Amino acid sequence: MVLLGPPGAGKGTQGALLAERSGIRHVSTGEIFRAAVGAGTPAGLRAEAYLESGELVPDGVVMQLVEEYLGNRCDLDLCFDGFPRTRRQAEALDAVLERLGTKLAGVFLIEVSDEEALRRLTSRGRSDDGLETARYRLEVYHELTEPLVDYYRAQGVLREVGGEAGIDAVADVVERKVAEVR
Ligand code: AMP
Repeated sequence: MVLLGPPGAGKGTQGALLAERSGIRHVSTGEIFRAAVGAGTPAGLRAEAYLESGELVPDGVVMQLVEEYLGNRCDLDLCFDGFPRTRRQAEALDAVLERLGTKLAGVFLIEVSDEEALRRLTSRGRSDDGLETARYRLEVYHELTEPLVDYYRAQGVLREVGGEAGIDAVADVVERKVAEVR
């Protein structure tokens, strides 16, 4: 599964809750990159400048990370958060899953307005959440990631979730919609 939506939509929060409630593994590429930056690994050193500026890490680097993570396993019950973020990543993910003999069960689009996203981002205090960087990340979302909504709608796997309600109310909807496709 995939959690899709702008930065600040609550993908990380909802992914963690989904893992707690349903035992589905929550995989945030942003978290993996932040951990690699923190640990000073070669991948972290390559990713750091992108994260700090709000720019996307290049597709090749992201796909290498994801492929290493998935390995040869096709039995994983997992939910990506913050991946894929570009059309090329989405197509590459489809190819990887096909090779593993599986496919996406569902893509859950968590929707919030830009105003709400900005309000949330600038109040959480991450180093890439200053006003200018947060604005830029939203722009990047609209330009490069939002086209995936149509991509997945055309595949028939898109499910929409309003993201402006309270955390538990959104989690209830996510849990119910996940149960429908699982
Ligand atoms: P997130 O935690 O999802 O907000 O991601 C934080 C940052 O990590 C992003 O602004 C990007 O720099 C990088 N990142 C995370 N996931 C991806 C991805 N799938 N493609 C490119 N960059 C990513």
